[in-house]
Amino acid sequence: MSTTQNKKIEIIKSATSKINEVDFENLSFGAVFTDHLFECDFKNGEWQTPTIKPYAPFLVDPSTRVFHYGQAIFEGMKAYKDDQDAIWLFRPDENYNRFNKSAVRMAMPEVPEDIFMNGLKELLKIDQAWVKKGNGNSMYIRPFMIGTGTGVIANPSDNYKFMIILSPVKSYYAGEVKVIVAEHYSRAANGGIGAAKAAGNYAGQFYPTNLANKEGFQQVIWTDDATHTKLEEAGTMNVFFRINDTLFTAPTSERILDGVTRKSLIELAKKEKINVEVRSVLVDELVEAANNGSLKEIFGAGTAAVISPIVGFSYKDHYYELPKLENSMAADLKLKLTNIQNKLAEDTFGWTVKV
Ligand code: PMP
Repeated sequence: MSTTQNKKIEIIKSATSKINEVDFENLSFGAVFTDHLFECDFKNGEWQTPTIKPYAPFLVDPSTRVFHYGQAIFEGMKAYKDDQDAIWLFRPDENYNRFNKSAVRMAMPEVPEDIFMNGLKELLKIDQAWVKKGNGNSMYIRPFMIGTGTGVIANPSDNYKFMIILSPVKSYYAGEVKVIVAEHYSRAANGGIGAAKAAGNYAGQFYPTNLANKEGFQQVIWTDDATHTKLEEAGTMNVFFRINDTLFTAPTSERILDGVTRKSLIELAKKEKINVEVRSVLVDELVEAANNGSLKEIFGAGTAAVISPIVGFSYKDHYYELPKLENSMAADLKLKLTNIQNKLAEDTFGWTVKV
């Protein structure tokens, strides 16, 4: 746990706003950023004065450590505006704790809670006009940290920059998602960094995902690196399988990201008296369930899309199509979760936190 330092945030307001240039009805995911950002540097073994300032590029030395050895971690979370114009975060402690777990794994300093949380809340207040209410609107929040020390020596950086940037988003629809089950490539290995939200995990996925795209599949279902027999994650989401009326999802491990959406869906499904089993599902089981008709649904779960239904999967050059359901668990759980997030339903879990 990091010590709190309660440093006052220095605030430099932007002289102008870009908000009138933005078409909020046609936002592509993560492409537009608000007027301000939050920044705090780690130098000489200490966190410096946190600052909120106009969103702008910054200059760095070409030998900056992050470019060479990839010390870069991030988080993805969302804020929502209710009908009374109050802004709410969804389980921010989960993201904060996961961020620091990623930091530890990547030999980076942990960010103190007050810097992360107060910085985030102040930034949201300053750019509150950018948080739109209703209709699947939300503010995607991207906290991240990079090694900013210089010199191309393969050691951990001595200096770091922690930043938070905000991107208004509409509800995310990935289109029809067909997936391919990985037989060769892996996103993570035992003893590796799969459980960290480390930038390199994503870079490593791009090439096998591109290969899948060329074959007409949008995402890869990652399997365990040792045997490729256990189903682990779907693209950049955790994955759920519905066989008959039971939902299955893999336990988190050092290969699997401990997703906030996954965790919330498990609790929500249990409350709905849906049978949930947290255990590894074998590729063979999935194929058998698809063949005998007991496989009803597969869906990905993550902050960006909340739930992304999968229409079919390919394994060993055979394509298995899923049934089209009138009343899917995916649609039902998505509505229940987004209603809590948007303050349209009572939050009996205590997941939402007012800014
Ligand atoms: N797995 C991976 C690899 C991810 O990048 C994400 C997105 N953060 C998830 C799962 C889902 O996590 P969350 O529900 O916390 O967004």
